[in-house]
Amino acid sequence: MTHSIQSLLEALQAARLKDSQLAPSVDLHCELLAAQARASLPALPKLPTMQDADQALAAGRPLSELTSLPLGASAVKELADEICVIAARHRPELSAELATIRGYLAGDGLAGESALVDELLTFVLNHARRPLLRAWAGGLAEVNINDWQRPVCPFCGSPPDLGALDAEAGKRHLLCSGCDTEWVFPRVGCPFCGDSRHQSYFPGENERYRLYVCDVCRRYLKVVDLRQTWGTVMLPVERVLTVGMDLAGREAGYT
Ligand SMILES: [Zn+2]
Ligand SMILES: [Zn+2]
Repeated sequence: MTHSIQSLLEALQAARLKDSQLAPSVDLHCELLAAQARASLPALPKLPTMQDADQALAAGRPLSELTSLPLGASAVKELADEICVIAARHRPELSAELATIRGYLAGDGLAGESALVDELLTFVLNHARRPLLRAWAGGLAEVNINDWQRPVCPFCGSPPDLGALDAEAGKRHLLCSGCDTEWVFPRVGCPFCGDSRHQSYFPGENERYRLYVCDVCRRYLKVVDLRQTWGTVMLPVERVLTVGMDLAGREAGYT
């Protein structure tokens, strides 16, 4: 299910009204969403036929592997540059690193930069590619992904950046960090390395949230327990509301 940008903006604003501590993160992400909504999209490749899509998924191949998505298109670079400007306005302490990334997008090298620049570049590219990847995934909405159950997105091949335990069966869903597609994944085991024996979790500040960590690959996954929530929950909104858990995960030594 892909939510409209308008519905995400409204849910973020409602959360901000309830908890003013969320304001810095919500304000940044509302501006990023507005920039994504305005951005022009490069031409998308032809969608696969249902038959080709079913065959690829059955063979364990995300549908992005069937074609070449225009991730380096000038429209994507322009949006990436705008995202740097927006991020620098909200986080002036990162201005120097974001200026380095703007230079890189304009064609400069990026040799010998810091881990912080790498992390910011991932953030910028992730947000700049999202409109394109959302449009790609939107065209594939009729494809059946119930049997996929793999650790990367069936449509764009990106890893997840949030999970949810659903309200009825407690099944685990993953949210794609690239295109916002949600898919079902086995409840037990690390979605990054597949290990099932060295998994643990920390409860979040409130019972809705858990931080799952894997001591094999040292990665973490934020999980929303939908059995503890009421009303409509949109996972792309939860991704923003749980930035505090990202900090906690990193401080504990996970990535
Ligand atoms: Zn995806
Ligand atoms: Zn792992």
